[in-house]
Amino acid sequence: MRPTGKLHLGHLVGALDNWVKLQDEYECFFMVADWHAFMSEYENPQNLKENILDNVVDWLAFGISPEKSTIFIQSHVKEHLELYMIYSIITPLGLLERCPTYKEQMREITNRDLNTYGFLGYPVLQAADILLYKAEVVPVGEDQLPHLELTRQIVRKFNHIYKRELFPEPKALLTKTHRLLGLDGRKMSKSYNNYVAISEEPEVILKKIMNMFTDPTRIRVTDPGHPDKCNVHSYYAVFAPERKKEIDERCKRGEIGCTDCKKELAQILIKFLEPIREKRKELLKNKKQIFDILEEGEKKAGEIAAKTISEVKHLINL
Ligand code: SF4
Repeated sequence: MRPTGKLHLGHLVGALDNWVKLQDEYECFFMVADWHAFMSEYENPQNLKENILDNVVDWLAFGISPEKSTIFIQSHVKEHLELYMIYSIITPLGLLERCPTYKEQMREITNRDLNTYGFLGYPVLQAADILLYKAEVVPVGEDQLPHLELTRQIVRKFNHIYKRELFPEPKALLTKTHRLLGLDGRKMSKSYNNYVAISEEPEVILKKIMNMFTDPTRIRVTDPGHPDKCNVHSYYAVFAPERKKEIDERCKRGEIGCTDCKKELAQILIKFLEPIREKRKELLKNKKQIFDILEEGEKKAGEIAAKTISEVKHLINL
């Protein structure tokens, strides 16, 4: 995960919730992708360190466990860049230029200059992140599938050139996760400021939820609503599925006003986030403990990474 800002509800339901479950099925490596963040934030990197700590605290508070998983910072394991360099040399330029997410980002991100050599190589660094640990599966969303396919192509090329099956072809672990739109109905994003952060205080949550867009055709409380077109309703589906049916029916019959509906949702979210907020406070009382967890993760990841790089160097005669 890239430490580009505070983590929000979208990260929670779209990734973290799944990560917590995966820990009991797989040997997991969770990486703070600070090099990846730097690729897009290189002009304004002043908040990177702060974001790294804040994100890791969210992970730990939500249930990512250092006893079960390896948690580390990408830039602290130098081998990521070594493997990135080696893969860069063998990766055809056309593969990167044709990558759909690259083309989309170049089109859509207009507030910073991403027309750089480094940003074009973003999926090559991702390939190195995965293969340094010879990972067999990667939990990805559908939008990330082209990147994973690129990783598989790099593996095939590497193994073919050096005539050894050194790297496995990682498979996608597609898990059905909830997709939560932002408070204004657009994609939930830091740049649109349309999110509820995991660490948000109760009064801020209430204020943000009360400002959410609802069904625009409802003028009076008694007007029949269209919950299927209402973003508030989709939040109920994720955070209070047991209330969804009743809200749905009362909204359609014009028996509940949007203000009351949003007030209830705000309370649900406040209650949902409360234990995470409390755990965060507790963790932040002892920052050394967090740095120790990261150091331990770095050590474990570093040992595996060093072994892989030594195998690669032996194979390519360096
Ligand atoms: S009552 Fe609730 S579900 Fe219905 S339109 Fe208003 S906010 Fe949306």
